[in-house]
Amino acid sequence: MATRDAADQRKPATLDVRTTVNGTIWPGIPGPFVSQLLAMQAQFEAAQWLSSAEILARQMPQLGRLLAHAYDTTAFYRRRLDAVGLSPEQVRGPDQWRRLPLLTRADMQQHQSELISCAVPDAHGPHSQLFTSGSTGRPVMVIGTGVTQLFWNCCTLRDHLWHRRAPGGTLAAIRSLPAGQAPAPDGVTAEDWGPATRGIVHTGPSHTLNISSTVDEQAVWLQQRAPDYLLTYPSNLAALIQHSQAHGWRLPSLREARTFGELLDPRVRRACRRAWNVAVVDMYSSQEVGYIALQCPETENYHVQAENVLVEVVDEQGRACEPGEVGRVVVTALHNFATPLVRYDIGDYAEVGEACPCGRGLPTLRRIMGRARNMAVLPDGRRRWPAVELAGTTDLAEFPPIHQFQLVQRNLSLMEMLLVVHRRLTAMEEDRLRGWVITAVGHPFEVKFIYVDAIPRSPLGKFEDFRCEVETPALEGLNDA
Ligand SMILES: [Zn+2]
Repeated sequence: MATRDAADQRKPATLDVRTTVNGTIWPGIPGPFVSQLLAMQAQFEAAQWLSSAEILARQMPQLGRLLAHAYDTTAFYRRRLDAVGLSPEQVRGPDQWRRLPLLTRADMQQHQSELISCAVPDAHGPHSQLFTSGSTGRPVMVIGTGVTQLFWNCCTLRDHLWHRRAPGGTLAAIRSLPAGQAPAPDGVTAEDWGPATRGIVHTGPSHTLNISSTVDEQAVWLQQRAPDYLLTYPSNLAALIQHSQAHGWRLPSLREARTFGELLDPRVRRACRRAWNVAVVDMYSSQEVGYIALQCPETENYHVQAENVLVEVVDEQGRACEPGEVGRVVVTALHNFATPLVRYDIGDYAEVGEACPCGRGLPTLRRIMGRARNMAVLPDGRRRWPAVELAGTTDLAEFPPIHQFQLVQRNLSLMEMLLVVHRRLTAMEEDRLRGWVITAVGHPFEVKFIYVDAIPRSPLGKFEDFRCEVETPALEGLNDA
C-alpha cells in the first residue's frame, strides 16, 4: 500500500450504507443492526484519540460493573474475592484491581461451570459457545453473547477502516476449520466479507480454504482466486512465500497480507515485502476474549482494543511492566457477562510499547511474544525465547534436506528435533544442526533428531517451531498472590 501522510490517514473512510427505507438511496438509512454497529463505530473513532488516562478512567466503571456482576452471579468469583477479602465495591482503582487473583487456563478447565453466570441480562442477546485449546490440548469453553459479537464486529470494522482496505476487493482466508469444511481444491465462497461490513460498505467476495490443504493446493487456489487481501497464519504465509519463490508464481492483485493466531516474526514482514511487494498487517485476538490488539495503521505497534478489553502486562511478581519490558499478558473482557473473564492470564508474553507516534491513546504493545509453552526453560529455571522462529525459511537454508521441523523440549536436559526431510542428514550435517540448535536455544542441551513423515498443527491449526513440555509451577504460582 502507498504511504500516506498523517492527515490523509485521519480522514474518515467513505461509507456506502445500504438503505432500508423505500425511495431513499443516498445517504442510506440503515436498519437496526447496522445502526448499532455505526453508532458503536462513531464512539470507537472518538475514543482512540483520548489520552490513555482518559481511556482508563472510562474503563474503570465498566470493570466495576463487570466485577459486581461476576461476584453476584458466579460461584467462582464470589469465592475468589471473598478469599482475598475484597468486595466489588472496594475495587475503585488500579491498586485494588491488581489485588484480584489471576484467572489461569487451569482454573478455566477445572471450574468451567462455576465461571458461567447464572443471570445473564436478556439485553446481552443470544449465547454462543466459544472454544479455545488449553495448554494441554484440552479445550476450554467460554460462552459469548450478542454483545461480545457486536464488539467483535466493531473491531473487525475498525481494522478495515484503519488500514483503508478497498471494500470492492476480494478476500481470501486460509484458516483452521473443522475437518471437511471448505476443503481443497475449491474451498467455499461467500458474496461479501461478512457481518462487520454488511450493509455498511459494498464489498467484494470472500473465499475460504481449510488450512489442512497442502501448500501446493493453496498455491493453485490462491492464483485462481486472485485475492486483494490474504488472511492466514504467519507460519502458513511464510510457507506460501517460500513456495511462490521456489515455483515462480505471484499474486499480482494482492494489496496486503493479514496475519493472526501466531507470533509474527519480523522476517515474515520483510520476506512478504520482498517477494510480493505488500505489507503484512497483524492482529492479536483469541477465541475467548475476541480482539485484544490491532496493528496501528501508521506504525508496527499493536494498539490494545481498550473498548473491548483491559490488557495488563505483568512480570513474574505480578507487577505492571514498564515500556520496553516483557511480561505476561493478562486480559479482562469488559463486556462478557455470560462467562466473565477477569484478569485472565491468557498464556502469552508481550513487550509494553511507548506512546504511539500516531497520537492514538489506545495503549500499545511493541511485540507479541507468543506463549509460555513456546519458551525454553534452562536448568536453573530461567526462561528464554529460542531464536528458531521461521528458521525454515532463512537460517536453515543451509540444511537443504529439511522440509519442516519442530523442536520439543522434553525436560531440563533434552531437546528433541522432529524433522521432515527429503533425505536423512549425514552425520556431519547432524553435528552442524546440533550446533545450530544449541545456539538458537542458548544452552548446551542434549539434542536428539527424530525423523517423521509429518508434523501436525496444534488443535487450533497453529504450527509451532518450538514447544516446551517442562511444567513451570513458578508461573502458575502467580495466581495464589
Ligand atoms: Zn499508533
